[in-house]
Amino acid sequence: MAPASKRRNKRRRAAVIEPAAGGMRLWAPWRYSYLRSAHSATPECIFCFGKLSAAQRKRRLVLVATERSLVMLNLYPYNNGHLMVAPRRHVASPELLSRDERAEIGEVVAAAVRALRSELRPVGLNVGANLGRAAGAGFADHMHWHVVPRWDGDNNFMPVLASTRVLSQSLEDSYRQLSPVFKALEAGLAS
Ligand SMILES: [Zn+2]
Repeated sequence: MAPASKRRNKRRRAAVIEPAAGGMRLWAPWRYSYLRSAHSATPECIFCFGKLSAAQRKRRLVLVATERSLVMLNLYPYNNGHLMVAPRRHVASPELLSRDERAEIGEVVAAAVRALRSELRPVGLNVGANLGRAAGAGFADHMHWHVVPRWDGDNNFMPVLASTRVLSQSLEDSYRQLSPVFKALEAGLAS
């Protein structure tokens, strides 16, 4: 075993893997400056758009777009059928939403879960929002909920080691399968 001072020096240079509650924890303190610089530029907001043609909707993977809410497939999905539900307004946090927006979005999240259950038959789902970049939000200024279907054994070592995900359905196929279900939801919300 190396002396304590040597072990500390080593820790400064390299990421360290240590056991932690619920699994292993990767320590990489040098990533902090990278994470800050990587997010300094503001990318175009993917959730803000005007009226879209059917072709544009398909290209942007938009399944629902009402006055208050939208649903789209995630272009970088964690799993097949990974949906994002968002308000139409560019706001960063749920307390900034109106009561009507919160009511509609609550309905849409429930409808998204129902649609994924009936179309893709997942064993479980993750539903949640990351508020702020530190919490993992890619588009922190426009809040959105993720609705991710899960199957037993769908999470292997690939996402952890190589940022690579194994998906069995293409985004085009997911869009084609889910589109009619969400068209009906959109029509119901508009009426
Ligand atoms: Zn936006």
